Amino acid sequence: MCALTVASNTKLPEVAFLVYAPTRQRRADNSFEGNDNIGAKVVEDVLCRAGIRVGRCSPETAKNFRLVLVSFTSTFDVFAFYRAVALIPSWQPKRRAFKVLAGGFGMQNPAPVRHFIDYAAFGRVDNWVTGVVDAILGGSEPAHESVMNLPDIHQVKISQPSSLYPYLVSGWSESFTGCPLKCKFCHYTYARKHSGSNEAYGQYVQSGFTGGSSPELTWDGLFTWGKKLGRVRVAIDGFSERLRYVYGKRISNDDIVAGLETVGQYEGITTVLTYNIGNFPGETEEDRHDLYQTLRRVNPKNRVIFVLCTTPFRPSAATPMQWEPVSLFPNWYNERARVIVEENNFRAVHSFTLETSYSHACAVIAERITVNDDELFHAICFAPGLQRDNHDMRLKRLQANFNLTSFLREYDVNEEHPSQFLTSYIERDTMKRIAIKMRTQAAKTKDTRGWLPGRVSMVQGRLGVTVTR
Ligand code: SF4
Repeated sequence: MCALTVASNTKLPEVAFLVYAPTRQRRADNSFEGNDNIGAKVVEDVLCRAGIRVGRCSPETAKNFRLVLVSFTSTFDVFAFYRAVALIPSWQPKRRAFKVLAGGFGMQNPAPVRHFIDYAAFGRVDNWVTGVVDAILGGSEPAHESVMNLPDIHQVKISQPSSLYPYLVSGWSESFTGCPLKCKFCHYTYARKHSGSNEAYGQYVQSGFTGGSSPELTWDGLFTWGKKLGRVRVAIDGFSERLRYVYGKRISNDDIVAGLETVGQYEGITTVLTYNIGNFPGETEEDRHDLYQTLRRVNPKNRVIFVLCTTPFRPSAATPMQWEPVSLFPNWYNERARVIVEENNFRAVHSFTLETSYSHACAVIAERITVNDDELFHAICFAPGLQRDNHDMRLKRLQANFNLTSFLREYDVNEEHPSQFLTSYIERDTMKRIAIKMRTQAAKTKDTRGWLPGRVSMVQGRLGVTVTR
């Protein structure tokens, strides 16, 4: 990694990354410890190699720099950033003496923070951020198709990397970008074009980013790993076969049973942490029971613990599901740690850490917020009644004081959408066609019982075999 950033120098650099407290206390701050914020570290590295020293600042010390960089690692960081700076006099638009450039994976909708950020960068910036920083420090307005000059909300394109980042950063080197799969709800896969080595085929992310040492595999990886797994992370992304085939991954019920029995052939306990999406459009109790019934069929030779970690669906920008309706219920928080199956050799249980409906509502608001919703956003960040009491109470207060219809309703693919300003490497018309086809397929799975889009499951396709028990 470039050493300029850490070189001691009595004179303060002109540029600094903002360190601020996150909304969720997974870590103390976004202070670039470990590899949690590798994107920000790459930006530091790029600027350092161009001879631009990058320091760190707090919300209070930001005024000592000419340009403050802000990293949003998730859409929740937009709330955290607003809480951190919105009440500080030196950050107010008319008094702010420094410029602010913000980006990162969580930069998907800057509408609520448009008065506290001057330039919002979308997508991969390593190829062009130096020019933008030079322009800002030189006193001119940057002009780039992936930079939104705020407070105007205008069209931008999510930038793609032209090549893998060639340097080692904090012991990490990039081997691929994007994901070869195209789950319809996934912002990542539609925001980042897949390129790089085939290592991605069988792994969702570059190892080490999302949970330390346990491997993260696609479901077919359970069949091909070939040795004992202690703890493994996989995703099914849909309660029923029907939902998985339409919205997420084509994993059949038989694939689920066979996959869990395959990892259970080895002696000892295997824990399978399984990410799932709940509250999909049109999801019913019958869909949820489809999974519970399937899990009752699992009979491994040795003990397997299946932990179901359900995140409620949100209509992410720039995906085919951006137009879909949102259901805030079931509230998965109420299901946490509930046992689904308890047998000698198999336990299926809901995860202990599940999202509340209130948190879900906030996430959806961050996706679909517009310049007309400033009061709502400010209330979520600061209104006393929304900072205390349990989450059910907060949701009731939110719904009593604000009309959430525009955040929760279904949109026609041809009507104006709140995050219409964002396009990715897939053109908007293509995205609409995918969305229309998906809606047609979803309807057909309901109207024609047993019908599924696609003849073979993803697992069967990738393994080249038919998985049957
Ligand atoms: S949800 Fe995971 S597997 Fe699906 S497209 Fe996104 S990154 Fe790939």
